[in-house]
Amino acid sequence: MTASPRTVRAARGSALTCKGWHQEAALRMLMNNLDPEVAERPQDLVVYGGSGKAARNWDSFEAIVATLRRLENDETLLVQSGKPVGVFRTHDEAPRVLIANSHLVPRWATWDNFRQLEAEGLTMYGQMTAGSWIYIGTQGILQGTFETFAACARTHFGGTLDGRLVVTAGLGGMGGAQPLAATMNGAAFLGIDVDETRICRRVESGYCDRLETDLDAALNAVLDARQRRVPLSVGLVGNAAEVLPELVRRGVDVDVVTDQTSAHDLRVGYIPAGYSLADAEAFRTREPLAYDEAVLDSMQTHVQAMLDLKASGAVVFDYGNNLRGQVADRRGMTRAFEIPGFVPEYIRPLFCKGSGPFRWAALSGAPEDIAVTDAAILELFPEKEHLARWIRMAQDKVQFQGLPARICWLEYGERAEAGEKFNWLVETGRVQAPLVIGRDHLDTGSVASPNRETEGMKDGSDAIADWPLLNALLNTACGASWVSLHHGGGVGIGYSIHSGMVSVADGTPAGYRRLSRVLTADPGTGVMRHADAGYDLATDTARERGVDLPMYNT
Ligand code: NAD
Repeated sequence: MTASPRTVRAARGSALTCKGWHQEAALRMLMNNLDPEVAERPQDLVVYGGSGKAARNWDSFEAIVATLRRLENDETLLVQSGKPVGVFRTHDEAPRVLIANSHLVPRWATWDNFRQLEAEGLTMYGQMTAGSWIYIGTQGILQGTFETFAACARTHFGGTLDGRLVVTAGLGGMGGAQPLAATMNGAAFLGIDVDETRICRRVESGYCDRLETDLDAALNAVLDARQRRVPLSVGLVGNAAEVLPELVRRGVDVDVVTDQTSAHDLRVGYIPAGYSLADAEAFRTREPLAYDEAVLDSMQTHVQAMLDLKASGAVVFDYGNNLRGQVADRRGMTRAFEIPGFVPEYIRPLFCKGSGPFRWAALSGAPEDIAVTDAAILELFPEKEHLARWIRMAQDKVQFQGLPARICWLEYGERAEAGEKFNWLVETGRVQAPLVIGRDHLDTGSVASPNRETEGMKDGSDAIADWPLLNALLNTACGASWVSLHHGGGVGIGYSIHSGMVSVADGTPAGYRRLSRVLTADPGTGVMRHADAGYDLATDTARERGVDLPMYNT
């Protein structure tokens, strides 16, 4: 069998093409990940995040599709790094799919080993929601990015980025959320990307206001917007390792600096200075090791410019792509860690309350179904003004990509409430078909990633990776629709272990049982993990909400 690339789009509507809604949801969400409106390079099965894939190859994709279509309601499909490898009899409230992505035995866990095994066809890079089939386009990260910029504004600028200039690079699948998240917070924004087509995509989807190819024109526009306190986002075609040092040289007064180039991957992520995309491709194919060194040279220049901007007063933070780790580990540039990570800086207090990304998609394909769910969220949590503001802005500014979807951050307790309410919306026919509920892996209880989610943990437990395993095992026991356990997402091979879960609100009594178990346990592991690390906010949350933690119950 040698399947060819084809255009993939999920089915819509309320008619099943599988034997149950859990399989149907997995099938639609896998296909949705590869919808050309959603995926960055669908022909290569790449969804986002450098080379983050949804299936190993096209043969595997077709085999997953065929297997999901025949899968019984008491069977479970096992997927090993994007390839379907077995079907076993389980039971009707067990997950229909279990996925393991990109794992290597720790001593072997380097990009070089990974790439060799990948080239031999033995594994694939699953990133986070790419290989766990719950990517919903750039909106998925938009809310997290909006929250991060809002927290940055609260911490440093009195609650708003009005009259502030944010500079970053990387406007890809995830990074493409930055311009809109920044302008939603009032900022003037300059986003550098070496690939003009990525900027065009953000402009077409309304995430970025305009594209410039000339630095002077871009700077004039954003400096003028900052002075007039008007939100404006400009995507500049250029290389961060060239543009940032030029900003330093010119003494441009920048307020906030971060970065979302695909720095987690030396070989097929970050583009070295002085190379067009085509030249970079030719160089990496011809001389891969020399290419890696050229990438590291540029990363060092880039990080140095970030440190220089920090020294001249800018708020600078790392945005989870392991840029600091690459230059510290491979070039000994440990000063890179003078740039703080965004999680300890802004997100950890949210994690202590079991707060994290709660996302859902309407399997009907009907945008009206998302409007119904938006209204349900606003009705459930009327006291959360910030949440209401987000939902209204998202309704106004976010164009759906693929199946209509929404995301917001909810705490322990709230996620289960929302899940049960969604099941009721399906049961009572207020929406046209089941809803699928999942989350990103920028999450409270399901990630071990010392340069990102677990950076600077209070008890020094940053690298302890038991937690995501417990999270995946528990979500499986609770009966999520599919559960995945990944290695290397976000920050690259060797740097993270994390797990994903997706559950379906199908309107049935079993739906209530499964959702209430999963959506309580999943954020509960976040409260548990942070309480165990010594965060008082997490122990208080556990006490207030009744999370049973044997060592903290007194
Ligand atoms: P992507 O591969 O879709 O996009 C990366 C972009 O960076 C591309 O558009 C590319 O052209 C551009 N780029 C590469 N080198 C450049 C350079 N030297 N100068 C300017 N532009 C350059 O990746 P993505 O999905 O947007 O993810 C970006 C990074 O963020 C990844 O490392 C990913 O792992 C990480 N990430 C962060 C979060 C978070 O919450 N902060 C979440 C997921 C992923």
